[in-house]
Amino acid sequence: RLSLRGIRKRFKAVEVLHGIDLDVKDRELIVFVGPSGCGKSTLLRLIAGLDPITEGEFLLNDQRMNDVAPSRRGIAMVFQSYALYPHMNVYENMAFGARLMGLDKAEVEARIAEAARMLRLEALMERRPRELSGGQRQRVAIGRALVRKPQLLLLDEPLSNLDAALRSDVRLEIARLHREIGGTTIYVTHDQVEAMTLADRIVVMNGGRIEQFGSPRELYETPSNVFVANFIGSPR
Ligand code: ATP
Ligand code: MG
Repeated sequence: RLSLRGIRKRFKAVEVLHGIDLDVKDRELIVFVGPSGCGKSTLLRLIAGLDPITEGEFLLNDQRMNDVAPSRRGIAMVFQSYALYPHMNVYENMAFGARLMGLDKAEVEARIAEAARMLRLEALMERRPRELSGGQRQRVAIGRALVRKPQLLLLDEPLSNLDAALRSDVRLEIARLHREIGGTTIYVTHDQVEAMTLADRIVVMNGGRIEQFGSPRELYETPSNVFVANFIGSPR
């Protein structure tokens, strides 16, 4: 269970999140949509603990997380820019976070084998990130997060670099893993179709605020304003 209460974020004097309130239940897959620059990635980074919250409170299962170190939040994040460890090969990249969690070697190996199979990375396990294409790097970043089976999984446009066939496969695998892990997933995308098909509920953001939070059906049938109606209604 995740709660955001009056979250504000300022970079120097500029405020980019203007008071975000959100309550997410366990096992929900929540999709964030909204135009470029509206604050989606910033909000994910605050939740992951990579940037301090300027004002407001973030609770996970009723525990205040504002000042908890990122590694102790039980959260895994896939970044828009992958952020792989350049000196480690694919296998080591995927094993790193899981080992830190104290899982035994056999369990880590089994989880990596499963992730490698579903993300089609088996043949690439010895390569380093610089020897991979953009889409391959993105798959490693997804695998690294999934291997940890986190209670809260944050995915920032995880499919943007994949071709259409792989995109629909990986999207289905993410949905399956979300259900299997039984935690909460927050998924950022620009793709309305992705949002409508994956989400239990969708957060529509604009200019550092939430315009509407509801099921795909609610947003489609009863958009709270013209912005939401246009955003949901206009395939890109
Ligand atoms: P996109 O869809 O393009 O990824 P986004 O919704 O993820 O956009 P953010 O990256 O969260 O947008 O950025 C929100 C706003 O905060 C933007 O105006 C951006 O320029 C600003 N911003 C983000 N990070 C910083 C930073 N470290 N310092 C100053 N401003 C920042
Ligand atoms: Mg972003």
